Amino acid sequence: MIQEYQLRVTPDTAANEQRLRKHVAEEYGFDERTITAMRVLRRSIDARQRQIIVNLKVRAFINEQPTDDEYQHTEYRDVSDCREVVVVGAGPGGLFAALRLIELGVRPIVVERGKDVHERKKDLSLITKTQKVDPESNYCFGEGGAGAYSDGKLFTRSKKRGNTEKILNVFCQHGASTAILADAHPHIGTDKLPRVIENMRNTIINCGGEVHFQTKMTRLLVDKGTVIGIEAQKTVNNQLSIVNYKGPVILATGHSARDVYRYLADANIEIEAKGIAVGVRLEHPSMLIDQIQYHSRQGRGRYLPAAEYSFVTQVDGRGVYSFCMCPGGFVIPSATGPQQIVVNGMSPSNRSGQWSNSGMVVEIRPEDITDGNGQLKMLEFQERLERDCWQQGNMKQTAPAQRMADFVNGRLSYDLPKSSYAPGLIPSPLHFWLPQSIGRRLKEGFKAFGKTSHGFLTNEAVMIAVETRTSSPVRILRNRDTLMHVGIEGLFPCGEGAGYAGGIVSAGVDGERCAEQCSEWLKSK
Ligand SMILES: Cc1cc2nc3c(=O)[nH]c(=O)nc-3n(C[C@H](O)[C@H](O)[C@H](O)COP(=O)(O)OP(=O)(O)OC[C@H]3O[C@@H](n4cnc5c(N)ncnc54)[C@H](O)[C@@H]3O)c2cc1C
Repeated sequence: MIQEYQLRVTPDTAANEQRLRKHVAEEYGFDERTITAMRVLRRSIDARQRQIIVNLKVRAFINEQPTDDEYQHTEYRDVSDCREVVVVGAGPGGLFAALRLIELGVRPIVVERGKDVHERKKDLSLITKTQKVDPESNYCFGEGGAGAYSDGKLFTRSKKRGNTEKILNVFCQHGASTAILADAHPHIGTDKLPRVIENMRNTIINCGGEVHFQTKMTRLLVDKGTVIGIEAQKTVNNQLSIVNYKGPVILATGHSARDVYRYLADANIEIEAKGIAVGVRLEHPSMLIDQIQYHSRQGRGRYLPAAEYSFVTQVDGRGVYSFCMCPGGFVIPSATGPQQIVVNGMSPSNRSGQWSNSGMVVEIRPEDITDGNGQLKMLEFQERLERDCWQQGNMKQTAPAQRMADFVNGRLSYDLPKSSYAPGLIPSPLHFWLPQSIGRRLKEGFKAFGKTSHGFLTNEAVMIAVETRTSSPVRILRNRDTLMHVGIEGLFPCGEGAGYAGGIVSAGVDGERCAEQCSEWLKSK
């Protein structure tokens, strides 16, 4: 017999399968020994009251063994002799597009400007050592894209556009823990993501697809209004060559490929300015966040994960909100070129770090920015802010920072708390030099968050500037149904960089949808 139960249990029971079996047996009145296996289908934490409760949906196998798979398996077939599609970018958008093409019997040629996910790691550690960023291999560029060295959070608010469950199942098939299928707020963690990404690459190659690293698309090849391929710069042993790849193109180059946006603008390929959100990374000791969120001086104890928070308010008609929270994580330097400071966050799978950080950002709409080139004005706004920040940060990757309460009270921070940000912090009056439209709203937002969450607004927390890459500053215009570019046939703008996704899962979903539409288009030719 297979039975499913909804349970509300204490964290210690939820964390231990033996206790869980005992609980189910007692609650539903049968012999514990008849439960041969138990599977957690859904898990969420209810921390609204002092007694923390874990909500579980479990499947109990009673007097029988489980025969079903823990995740849904996708069949990938040999596409060695099939028609080709060029996928530009090996972030979640590009990788999921490539895998879906294989399912549909199309051969993906993946072109990625950065290095493979392991080589890339060396360049990330050099950022702290040399205070310089490699413009082709960094926290945004390289295999796995911006999502590789991240928290690997896998939840998305937009479930309307596609099959998010499928994305999670594909991650499991490539080595992610099946816990991501159960958790209300699943995440993989930066220590586990590279292996999963490498496995996805191996599936592409084993099925007859190609993956080219250190290969940067420089332009689209267009013939009579139809894309017929790309031109790319390939680097092998420090030697540069120009190569062409032929086929329709899924363009999944992410929100930081500013050269791609500039190329599209110069080539008169329709794009438009898009709203973004800009602010800082806010870092608290994780113990403090645990104490606040779990209402306990002892913090999270042995059985609870590092606590998360989520804040949102409106100040003067614009949203102010927390973004991409990384409990027990690190603040990282995620610039993609010289003269920029950009911060973001990541965390390991166990989220065991001493600090918890989150973006704290203010919504900026295109109409809020009055200067700059129309289509690229939001991108230029990001660039100005990142350059200002770099200048404030001593023209290195040391980031300007201020204690949170000092910022709200307009005071200088003469010293700063310890931080996870490896390149180092420098005290800076953010209240003074951040654009008023951002600084004032952040200040009011922090006051509001401090009121709802006692202890959150504190000088133990440090604000680290500047978080600008929360989403794409540009939208590459495409047809709603065919997902093809509005002006050019055979071009499928995809993922976050095209302005149609925000996060790993939604980029993956968009990748799959672009692959489906591209495959349909190919059939019609
Ligand atoms: C530090 C950090 C942490 C994050 N944490 C999370 C998180 O926990 N959860 C979450 O959902 N989201 C997170 N995000 C956001 C998430 O990573 C992105 O939304 C997602 O990766 C977007 O996927 P994408 O494939 O559209 O673009 P990207 O991931 O940006 O991938 C684009 C790829 O294209 C390549 N490329 C660019 N230009 C070219 C070119 N000319 N030729 C060839 N290749 C090119 C880039 O090198 C890159 O690999 C994080 C982002 C960062 C930076």
